[in-house]
Amino acid sequence: MEGMSQPVARLQHSLRGPVLDRHHPAYDVARTTFNGMIDRHPEVIACCAGSDDVAAAVDWAQSEGLPAAIRGGGHSVAGHSVCDDGLVIDLRLLGGVQVDPESRRVKVGGGAVWRSVDAASAAHRLAMPGGTYDTTGVAGLTLGGGIGHLIGLHGLTLDNLVSADVVLADGGVVTATDATEPELFWSLRGGGGNFGVVTEFEFALHPLTAVWGGIITYPRSHMCDAIRLFRDVMASAPDELTLMCFADNEKVPDGAASITRLLRRRRPGRRGGRPPASREPAGAQRRPRPHELPADPGDAG
Ligand SMILES: Cc1cc2nc3c(=O)[nH]c(=O)nc-3n(C[C@H](O)[C@H](O)[C@H](O)COP(=O)(O)OP(=O)(O)OC[C@H]3O[C@@H](n4cnc5c(N)ncnc54)[C@H](O)[C@@H]3O)c2cc1C
Repeated sequence: MEGMSQPVARLQHSLRGPVLDRHHPAYDVARTTFNGMIDRHPEVIACCAGSDDVAAAVDWAQSEGLPAAIRGGGHSVAGHSVCDDGLVIDLRLLGGVQVDPESRRVKVGGGAVWRSVDAASAAHRLAMPGGTYDTTGVAGLTLGGGIGHLIGLHGLTLDNLVSADVVLADGGVVTATDATEPELFWSLRGGGGNFGVVTEFEFALHPLTAVWGGIITYPRSHMCDAIRLFRDVMASAPDELTLMCFADNEKVPDGAASITRLLRRRRPGRRGGRPPASREPAGAQRRPRPHELPADPGDAG
């Protein structure tokens, strides 16, 4: 605690995790978020190791009269997870993931990113609808709704939330479920990060054996046809098919529309399956890829 101001030393004294002030060598890296254009300088960054640390940090910010920002995965493009001259409650130490394959539930720390959830779940041939990028935070994405590749089958991420451990503004800690804290639970499901600090989420998992994914790119001259095709296919698409359509001026030469598709593997005899390649506009370049999940000897489908 050498060199720390008295208030910051008091905060460090009440926390298990490290506290980084402006003089700490890790401060500049810790205040950086996904969006490199955000350049804010918090008074202090509290790296919380549990709900007790979060409660102490919330209490400290209030006693010092400082604003507080909560950092999960740090992917808020607007930079909502870092503030100037206030306290950042950094949850990255709470990145743990525990899968219970029997109950098909997963418990996820408030600072985890999707990559950890996907890897731990896939080991049991289970999955849940997270985001499309595995580096985004579970917390911010869930609290804002959550759009991902499994949306047709299993809804938004928030539809799969079972419970959340939340530190409230008064320092109290509650487990919010539909039964125990219905109003708070309702607010967490899409209300953003304004109702408390979530230190742990519990989600329902779903069986997933294999998926097909890939990108079809179209030259700019076929962009209108591609978007019409996207509209027509999605009007009667099976739930297993997720398509996303992007106009991309940077990654594809000549500027192009690209359609990303993801299909859950169907069992033989069921309707649908592969996308209608015969209806693709001329000039399409297809790059479908199978994504096989770990083998399950009991699954022959
Ligand atoms: C590259 C990229 C890809 C994306 N892809 C998708 C996608 O496929 N689907 C989709 O739905 N969204 C997507 N998003 C949007 C993303 O869901 C939001 O930016 C989300 O807020 C990121 O969550 P985070 O925890 O990483 O963010 P943070 O910046 O850490 O936090 C975002 C907000 O949530 C609050 N917050 C964070 N953690 C907690 C917590 N534990 N308790 C309470 N409040 C908290 C923060 O204070 C802040 O207000 C993407 C964003 C990026 C940058």
